[in-house]
Amino acid sequence: MSEYFAFYNGEIVKEDSIKISIRSKAFNYGLGCFEGIRAYWNEEKNQLYVFRLREHYERLLQSCKTLYINIPYSVEQLCDATVELLRKNNFKTTVYIRPVAYKSSEKLSPSLYDDENSFLIYCQPLERFIEKEAFRVCISSWRRISDNMIPARTKPTGGYLNSALASMEATLNGYDEAIFLTDDGKVCEGPGENIFIYKNGKLITPPASDNILEGITRDMVIKIAKNELNIPVEERSISRTELYAADEVFFTGTAMEVAPVVEIDRRIIGSGEPSKVALEIRNYLMNAAMGNIEKYMDMCTRVY
Ligand code: PMP
Repeated sequence: MSEYFAFYNGEIVKEDSIKISIRSKAFNYGLGCFEGIRAYWNEEKNQLYVFRLREHYERLLQSCKTLYINIPYSVEQLCDATVELLRKNNFKTTVYIRPVAYKSSEKLSPSLYDDENSFLIYCQPLERFIEKEAFRVCISSWRRISDNMIPARTKPTGGYLNSALASMEATLNGYDEAIFLTDDGKVCEGPGENIFIYKNGKLITPPASDNILEGITRDMVIKIAKNELNIPVEERSISRTELYAADEVFFTGTAMEVAPVVEIDRRIIGSGEPSKVALEIRNYLMNAAMGNIEKYMDMCTRVY
C-alpha cells in the first residue's frame, strides 16, 4: 500500500489506483527504461530542490529514442510534471523520484517496434540509500553487459537483471556490493553506480567507451574535483589490479551519492579508512544539491 500520489499517463493519481496489465511487454520482457532522480530537502531554508532534473530527463529521452519507446512529452513537460507531483505529495524530506517509460503493449512478442507505450513517475522519501560509511566489495564473476548487447547509455529495466545477479552474488558471499569488469576485463562500474580511484593525487574513472552508464553524479564529481578541489581527473580504462593498488576508491550515483570503498576482494584499500577525497566531494555535492552554493543554483529546480 502506498500513501503517495504518482504521475500516470498524463495525470496525477493515487499510486494505489494504478493498474498495470500482467500481459504488458514491460512485465513480460523487461521492455522499459527509467531514471533515478533526487530532490533534496533544505531544513534551514525550508525548501525542496530537485538536483539536475533536466539532465535526468534528457538522458531518459535519449534512452527512449534508442529503445523505440515513444512518450509524448518534452524535457520541459517532464520537469513540470515532476515538480507538480512533488508539490501534490507535499514532501518535507529528501525524496527519490523514479520515472519509468515502458512498453504497455500486450502483444505476445518482445518487439520494440510497437506503438503502445506508457509513462509514469512515482516517488518516496529517501534519506540515505544504504546506511554505511565504508563498503567492502568484490569483483563480480558476472561481466557487465556491453553496448552491443544492451545499450549502456540507456537505463533499460531489463538490463538491471545483470545488476541484480552481481549484487546478489556479492550479498551471498558476504560483501556489501559488486564491481563489474567489462567483457575484456577492464574495470567498469557497480550494479547501480560509477567508480573512481584516487592515486598519487589524481582521480581516475573509466571512460564512456568502457560500457559505463554516463552518470550524472559522475559528471558532478568530475566538476567538483577539477573546479573546486583542484584535483586532476583522468577518464581512462582501469585494470583490475589498479583497484587493489589505489590510495582510495569510491562509488558515485544518485541513490548511493558518494560512497567510500575500503576493501576489494578482501584486500584493504590504502589505509583502510573511508576515502578522504570522497568525503570532501560528498560534502560539496550535498551542499550544491541542497541549493547552498550560488554558482551551482542553476542545477537545482526549486519545488517550494
Ligand atoms: N551506473 C549504473 C548502472 C546505474 O544504474 C547508475 C544509477 N543511475 C549509475 C551508474 C550512476 O548514475 P547517476 O549518477 O546518473 O545516478
